Amino acid sequence: MSVLIKNGTILTAEEEFEGDIFIKGEKIEALGKKLPFKADEVIDAKGKYILPGGVDQHVHFSFTYKGSKVRGFETSNAAAVGGTTTLIEFVNQEQGKGLVESIDEYRKKDADGIAMVDYSFHSVMTDPRDEVIDEIPKLAEAGYPTMKLFMAYKGMFFHADDDAVLKALIKGKEAGITVMVHAENAHMIDVLAKKLVAEGKTDPYYHAVSRPVIAEAEATRRAIYLAELAGAPLYVVHVTCKEALEEIKNAYSKGQRIFGETCSHYLVLDTEDLARPGFEGAKYVCSPALRTEEHRKALWEAVERKWLNAISSDHCGFDYAEQKHMGYGEGKSFADIPNGAPGLQNRLNVLWTYGVCEGKLTKARLVDLFATAPAKINGLGTKGQLAPGFDADVVIFDPEYKGTISVQNNLEGVDYCPFEGFEQKGRAETVFLRGMKIVSEGNYQGKKGQGRFIAGRPFGTAYTEGK
Ligand SMILES: [Zn+2]
Repeated sequence: MSVLIKNGTILTAEEEFEGDIFIKGEKIEALGKKLPFKADEVIDAKGKYILPGGVDQHVHFSFTYKGSKVRGFETSNAAAVGGTTTLIEFVNQEQGKGLVESIDEYRKKDADGIAMVDYSFHSVMTDPRDEVIDEIPKLAEAGYPTMKLFMAYKGMFFHADDDAVLKALIKGKEAGITVMVHAENAHMIDVLAKKLVAEGKTDPYYHAVSRPVIAEAEATRRAIYLAELAGAPLYVVHVTCKEALEEIKNAYSKGQRIFGETCSHYLVLDTEDLARPGFEGAKYVCSPALRTEEHRKALWEAVERKWLNAISSDHCGFDYAEQKHMGYGEGKSFADIPNGAPGLQNRLNVLWTYGVCEGKLTKARLVDLFATAPAKINGLGTKGQLAPGFDADVVIFDPEYKGTISVQNNLEGVDYCPFEGFEQKGRAETVFLRGMKIVSEGNYQGKKGQGRFIAGRPFGTAYTEGK
């Protein structure tokens, strides 16, 4: 099967130009002006942009809170209609099991044969026994070259102390494992949350009060010190505030390899969303908490100026009617609400409408943050770029489309959308996954199980960039 996409405006992380793309089988074979190839299908993309399929390096399909699980890979077609063709899922190490074993088991049971876009995995170390630390380099051989630790969440089984973070950094460096941290001070949050609840301040809004900026900034700085001590690079996931950003910038400018991402909801949603009437604020409970306008401004500047190098969704599909209501009623508080919000489908819509169309993001930066950089960070060598030899993950984007973001046209399988009612400019009109057309006219038309596991290679860009 071959496809020739003609006369589009091709967007890459460096430039944009009018041209054609020739896809043969699963790969991009050629790019250029007036390509002379004959193809089984010819698409005229005049007036459309062509960009690489997105790589969302931060999704949660396996997360469980108090025995209640989020929506899984059976909803991964939501990524496809949003122009994302590769997902990287965080898999918690199961108690008593190894890091690789935990991912292998999850992958066989819940991803292989189900996923509708390509996928890869990050390990999450939850049980840092000596033999688990010794196992870290094996992640690289298994194709899982990244590992996250949760510095937040005191008392939960997945919380990681500083010694676990330091040991992971030291051991991970041997094999080119990129260590990632959820940076929030677990103790500060625990003290504040208990105090607020004792005072009867239990509404969703107090989630943000219990997780102030200083808790994120402190943990970010501490993680940077740990990385300095280990002589290892560090990747900070979901950076949300100016102060944490400053820590990353300072360390980076001193020559340390410290990198970070932010997520689409931190760019357009606000602490005030947590104060919506009734219990509606629970829809916006995610961690770190949503911030105020000054932080959003700082984050837009940071992504445009390369101080942060990826924008992910941190998609976490807990529904409102039941799961978010675990924090509702007598004796319950914000601290009982499962953390996380869905966002898989709308990452590109949010970044285009509120970034590119409002002049906050150039198109080249959008492509880099949405696809190219996250592929490199995670060692996905065939993903995230429109170039010969790369996987033919291609989005034809119609900038003239106008719509409204809503749960009504959403495939995430969740009963709400945090961006409900937001204006949407442009959409992924046609999407190819390794040469297969899986979205046409904005509608998903692929098959269950067409997604494929993509092994990551160690020594991603956190090891190679910046020095
Ligand atoms: Zn997350």
